Amino acid sequence: MLYIVLVLVLAALGLLVSALITASSLWAWVSIGLSVLAGLILVVDWLRRRRRSAAPAPEAPAPEAPAVSSPPEPAEEEQTTLIPAAGDLGDPPDTSAEPETTPDADPGVEDTPEADVAVLADLEDEVVVVDEHPRYHLRTCEWLGTRDTIPIGVGEARQLGFTPCDRCTPDATLVAAHR
Ligand SMILES: [Zn+2]
Repeated sequence: MLYIVLVLVLAALGLLVSALITASSLWAWVSIGLSVLAGLILVVDWLRRRRRSAAPAPEAPAPEAPAVSSPPEPAEEEQTTLIPAAGDLGDPPDTSAEPETTPDADPGVEDTPEADVAVLADLEDEVVVVDEHPRYHLRTCEWLGTRDTIPIGVGEARQLGFTPCDRCTPDATLVAAHR
């Protein structure tokens, strides 16, 4: 900004000199015009600086803005911790995807008639489940083998979302025993 003023003042001086040399009043007027313009620029520049120094308070809070916007980083860390959880959820379907080829895979689901389902909901006859496996079985089921079994009422097992094994058919066996 000050360079422009300097150039204008020098130009005005040059024109004034040429006006004196050539005795032309036109150059003199142009020189006066440039001087006035330079003066105006100086005044405008001065007013701008005065506003900046007069109002430092509104600009001071600005440095705090980056500090407020920094919290998004912890949010990203939370997202990364959620990814392993989603991976764990994906595991159970994989174990039941290949029932025939993998010896550890769960047997199929017994096809229980809806009438039997209503009966089973109220029964407290004991079936067994294996931790992290979706089926419930009779104690005599051959699939259980040496697995650690957890005894549970058939009604409660169904309530928890367990499904009947189609090898030992606990639903048909228990419903038949209550008829
Ligand atoms: Zn079974």
